[in-house]
Amino acid sequence: MSETGQESDDPVERAQVGFRDEFGETNGSGNLEVARAPGRVNLVGGHTDYNDGFCLPVAIDRHVAVAAEARDDEQIRVYSTDFDERATFAPDDDPTGWVAYVAAVASVLREDRNLPGASLAIASSVPTGAGLSSSAAIELAVGRAMLEVAGQELSPTDLALACWRAERDGVGVECGILDQFAVGLCEPNAALFLDCRTRVFEHVPIAGDVGILVVDTGVSHELTDSGYNDRVRECEAAVSTLQNAAGSDIQSLRDVDEDLLETHGDELDDVLYRRARHVVTENERVVAARDALENGDFDRVGAAMLASHESLRDDYEVSCPELDAAVELAAETDGVYGARMTGGGFGGSVVALVAGDALERAEQSIRSVVADRVGKNAQVFTCRPSEGVRVVSPR
Ligand code: ADP
Ligand code: MG
Repeated sequence: MSETGQESDDPVERAQVGFRDEFGETNGSGNLEVARAPGRVNLVGGHTDYNDGFCLPVAIDRHVAVAAEARDDEQIRVYSTDFDERATFAPDDDPTGWVAYVAAVASVLREDRNLPGASLAIASSVPTGAGLSSSAAIELAVGRAMLEVAGQELSPTDLALACWRAERDGVGVECGILDQFAVGLCEPNAALFLDCRTRVFEHVPIAGDVGILVVDTGVSHELTDSGYNDRVRECEAAVSTLQNAAGSDIQSLRDVDEDLLETHGDELDDVLYRRARHVVTENERVVAARDALENGDFDRVGAAMLASHESLRDDYEVSCPELDAAVELAAETDGVYGARMTGGGFGGSVVALVAGDALERAEQSIRSVVADRVGKNAQVFTCRPSEGVRVVSPR
């Protein structure tokens, strides 16, 4: 709560207020620093990242903020203002729950450098477990804040990679690099075209007046418990069968095109064939959408998004009735170019690309029926393509 008794919408402000409430004005060891990391939507490129493929995310103007101060011991004390929960841990501890994300980042960063302890307060406007990557936003904001209070530097790519390792090895989600690169490297008014094999990326300016609309179905996925890691296994199995059939040049589904899949597809059982077909066609859709976005051809971007959703629903089987209903609702709304599920699936959110001058009307029209059509916990909001993680001046 601020002095007026009103809780602010701004996570940067809430993190600072939370810090003072929890830890006192300062610990006397240095200046309070605040890092802010966005959530993200992915326009096209679902489940391609761990297959060495392409994706096309956009950072959104919803953020996780972390207010931080160095400590003169090695401990980390962390307070989540949203959960009103706190924890204290030392470098060798292995905390669970949301604290695991913080501990995993600290532990990966400490592998290569001497990093002092820190007091951290977290506040977020990224819905949790909604497929908008609150987890990567926490990781990048914690990482950037801890480095800042220690006076240490790390390139944006190296920070993204450190946070990716933290989520994979420390938390146990066998994710690709999409979320951490999007949250770490996006620029305002641009999508990030990312080659997940080479890690080469390109900022693709959004050439025209479009807005982004998110329908959060309110159905929360739990990535560690869901079929996410099963899909990783299935893709590995498809690669190993195709390798036996077509040769060792195939290291991942990135190395498979539609011709090769048609030639050797009968070696795969039906499920693995459909998993592979999704990844192969999805990579093509990402490249097509990148070119279309650059040319301001939003109809083509929208068509790629709708085709992506169908493929995730039918071939990859990671959608759910609420996501399908939200895509259908968005697609029939005036001014919407296209929509698809974003994030790992099994719940979470739908992203829609909307003509700028129709955005507000589309939001209102979807909001008026979303409870009936999608679910009683569903939420609709609009957002702007935003920048990746930053250190912001304390206010
Ligand atoms: P997503 O990244 O799509 O939001 P994940 O399941 O990958 O979903 O990550 C969600 C997890 O991140 C939560 O279960 C929680 O552990 C952590 N988290 C998200 N928001 C917060 C927050 N405001 N404070 C503390 N932990 C959070
Ligand atoms: Mg996540």
